[in-house]
Amino acid sequence: MNETLSTEVNVPAIDGERLWQTLMELAVIGGTPKGGCNRQALTELDREGRELLIRWCEAEGLTVRFDAIGNLFARRDGSNADADPVVIGSHIDTQPTGGKYDGCFGVLAALEVIRTLNANGIETERPIELVSWTNEEGCRFAPCMMGSGVFAGQLTLEDALSRTDVDGITAGEALEAIGYVGDDANRPGRFAAYLEAHIEQGPILEDEGKTIGVVTGALGLKWFDVTVTGMAAHSGSTPMHLRQDALLGATRVVEAVNRIALAHQPDGRGTVGAFQLLPNSRNVIPGQVTLSVDFRHSEGEVLDAIVTEFRQTLDAIARETGLSIEIAPTADYPPQHFAADCIAAVRQGAQANGYAHRDIVSGAGHDAVFIGDIAPAAMIFIPCEKGISHNESEYAAPEDVTAGANVLLHATLNLAGLAAGAAA
Ligand SMILES: [Zn+2]
Repeated sequence: MNETLSTEVNVPAIDGERLWQTLMELAVIGGTPKGGCNRQALTELDREGRELLIRWCEAEGLTVRFDAIGNLFARRDGSNADADPVVIGSHIDTQPTGGKYDGCFGVLAALEVIRTLNANGIETERPIELVSWTNEEGCRFAPCMMGSGVFAGQLTLEDALSRTDVDGITAGEALEAIGYVGDDANRPGRFAAYLEAHIEQGPILEDEGKTIGVVTGALGLKWFDVTVTGMAAHSGSTPMHLRQDALLGATRVVEAVNRIALAHQPDGRGTVGAFQLLPNSRNVIPGQVTLSVDFRHSEGEVLDAIVTEFRQTLDAIARETGLSIEIAPTADYPPQHFAADCIAAVRQGAQANGYAHRDIVSGAGHDAVFIGDIAPAAMIFIPCEKGISHNESEYAAPEDVTAGANVLLHATLNLAGLAAGAAA
């Protein structure tokens, strides 16, 4: 990384108006009456969105290709054809009640970076590849982050293509129907770096009045299904001291999840989000409760310690209440620690532009979290109103959209380097 880039070259400003217009134009495809966007992966609307993006990329002289899961790559050559590319982008699929910014901001900020380089005649040493990953949201076809997951080896291509939607259509059939089955030979090889700009999808930047989040990594997560079993019995004829009430035990589990997460701040998270009661009847003592548990933390050892404490606490609850408590793991992803060089390039981009910024850890999953396992990566967050996303009312202010793209441009130039003799 070139630590002194900002003093060597006048990094131009991106065109905020042009970027905003482009964002609004893409959002028309699948636009909802409430101002959001419903453009789910591998649908006809996804095809329309891809076609618009490709038109914009080709207008900038980029070479567009697809791999076998439909990930889109658009290449801007560098002066050194053999150099590994700097890859920038995100995704353009949305949730059914999605907004205009989640994912699309990262892809169109990447497009804006390329438009700005072209408009200013700036040649980089490394090639730059814009990427739009297939099916990040995972709503029509699970799992989420499908395209980047296949790319990074988190799941196989065969597995991904065999996933079905509610109508029994496979992801492979849907990808073929929209005409975006490509060839893995089209993939760029090794990445010199991967940068993804994204709305924060949380409330921290807005709360602290910061414009840019320098994303240093992502929380690891461990998910469990917990089953508390007692004895269903008549609520009138069973005296209080002879009950085995599964719900009473389950409420202690809920309390423990919250207490343990609170003891590991600022990065600890603990959530019970799903809760089922059997038989769920007014005059029956609950015989069984199943609930979901979601723990997250930025450090693997701390996450392990959280889970150890959780298991010990559940053992104690079972002993004290006479209930049986079973714990089944359902998901386990380690924390992601992004590459120091990429993080520094983002931070320098924020500093050079004079934007208020802070380091931040992503609590949500992103394509960059998978790509970070196979390449140096980092992310740039901008605030979104009230932290709301996956919602039609999702909103990012134009000045923050502009700021995020300026940081992406600066960091991309830093990592891609200028062609020999091109320094201003
Ligand atoms: Zn996203």
